[in-house]
Amino acid sequence: MANKYVGAHVSASGGVENAPINAMEIGARAFALFTKNQRQWKAKALSEESIEAFRTNLERSGIAPKHVLPHDSYLINLGHPEEEKLLKSREAFVDELERCEQLGLEKLNFHPGSHLVKIPKRDPDYETKLEAAERECLDRIAESMNRAIEATPDSKVKLVIENTAGQGSNLGYRFEHLAYLIERVEEKSRVGVCLDTCHTFTAGYDLRTPEAYEETMRAFDEIVGFDYLEGMHINDSKPPLGSRVDRHHSLGMGEIGWEAFRLIMNDPRMDDIPLILETIDESIWPEEIRALYDLIEV
Ligand SMILES: [Zn+2]
Ligand SMILES: [Zn+2]
Repeated sequence: MANKYVGAHVSASGGVENAPINAMEIGARAFALFTKNQRQWKAKALSEESIEAFRTNLERSGIAPKHVLPHDSYLINLGHPEEEKLLKSREAFVDELERCEQLGLEKLNFHPGSHLVKIPKRDPDYETKLEAAERECLDRIAESMNRAIEATPDSKVKLVIENTAGQGSNLGYRFEHLAYLIERVEEKSRVGVCLDTCHTFTAGYDLRTPEAYEETMRAFDEIVGFDYLEGMHINDSKPPLGSRVDRHHSLGMGEIGWEAFRLIMNDPRMDDIPLILETIDESIWPEEIRALYDLIEV
């Protein structure tokens, strides 16, 4: 098993306390979860009983808090161009951070945000306008992150930025976007990143051969730095390299293939962080987890 902590994004239906149990049942040594319904803005506060039960079940599972990677709601857009929706997102994000803190967790995984600006491709200034929209959005996201950290001064929960496929106007598809945000966050001890293999690949970074993998990881290290890597999402991809489309696939069944996952499982830079499956067929998660561990060469 070496120093690798593989798991999946498990269900928390019926209460967050069920997530560690669901993780245990599939042989996971790490897991991700939503701490509230991911498609609703408002959620009831976590009850004392639920928090207690979560902590007890987590301890029983033997999974360390640093190997749990909660994911925030899909509704949150920390770079929203409209003031009202931006504020709503910022409030919901602080609530998510507080939930993690209550559960004794250390990380909150989120997608950076989308600028939502529509620029017609035939516009002669397309490139310039796109660049401006992206820059403004990244600045808003950085501001959102700084405010969230200020609103939770006693918390140690890290804001873990996930790289994206760059679908639509989603930012975070270049390593430079992640670096830009980190650079602007004042409290660096509160920030980290999560690399999703499907997103990395469809954003245009190849992982399929040892050479391509090394080239991608070298770029990541130079631009962002492995010190910031707090987790990974392990997914194969339905769409091809550079397609900027976000569609996960089961391991070995997509465009990426097993070689990339073998390289990850034997890369010490991915030691001691949660490696989370978000693959499409959860009935085979136990097999996928076992297959990943089997790739480790001693
Ligand atoms: Zn992901
Ligand atoms: Zn995805």
